Amino acid sequence: MIVQALPSPNHNDRAGGIDPDMLILHYTDTVDAAEALALLTSRVAEVSAHYLVDTDGTVIHLVQERRRAWHAGRGSWRTRGDINSRSIGIEVQNPGHRCGLAPFPDIQVAALITLCQRILGRWPIRPDLVLGHSDIAPTRKRDPGELFPWATLAAAGIGLYPPDLTGPGGRIAEGMRGPLVFRLQTDLSRFGYAVPMTATFCPVTTAVVLAFQRHYHPERLDGVWTGTLQAKLAWLIRQCPGEG
Ligand SMILES: [Zn+2]
Repeated sequence: MIVQALPSPNHNDRAGGIDPDMLILHYTDTVDAAEALALLTSRVAEVSAHYLVDTDGTVIHLVQERRRAWHAGRGSWRTRGDINSRSIGIEVQNPGHRCGLAPFPDIQVAALITLCQRILGRWPIRPDLVLGHSDIAPTRKRDPGELFPWATLAAAGIGLYPPDLTGPGGRIAEGMRGPLVFRLQTDLSRFGYAVPMTATFCPVTTAVVLAFQRHYHPERLDGVWTGTLQAKLAWLIRQCPGEG
């Protein structure tokens, strides 16, 4: 893993001086790493991340891990707001949905795995708190996207990825209401997603289901809940000590 330093001015103190306990993964949504780096170091743009991983596996170190980088924006997970104060953020070079989602090259994934393993060795970050930007901001963000190799990362000890499970239950989709929708919202919220507890399958619920599919079941991206997704969510909740 080749690491280059390119300090970004876009960082500040972590609120309360707390240590990071989350790892948030992004794609850059740019045509190349040069475009991403221009943004991530611009005083005007006021965004950053701790690291950028280029398609050739080069890792660019932008912000010291003790500092609060500005990558997450508005978002939440369980009781956690101000995700920037609680997390390490990594941008992974990819054209994204904006410029043409592309597979992540093996050499890039290998570098990302090494980087993540080192970060997880330095900070007490639980597997269930290795998340995508779309998980913590499902109504605003789609990154790192449905091609992101979450299963490969989980096999390397980074984050959670449910096994192939199927479960009973019919389809639950936007516009439906009632106890089944309320139970779905309760379970998504228990795991961590910010979902309204309205017992109505509203557009925000759809956005959360899509975020769940992008991360844990990318085979289908239709915003419709099924017994298979419920079985995977139940498995994920069981992996969260004290919060399941
Ligand atoms: Zn992002």
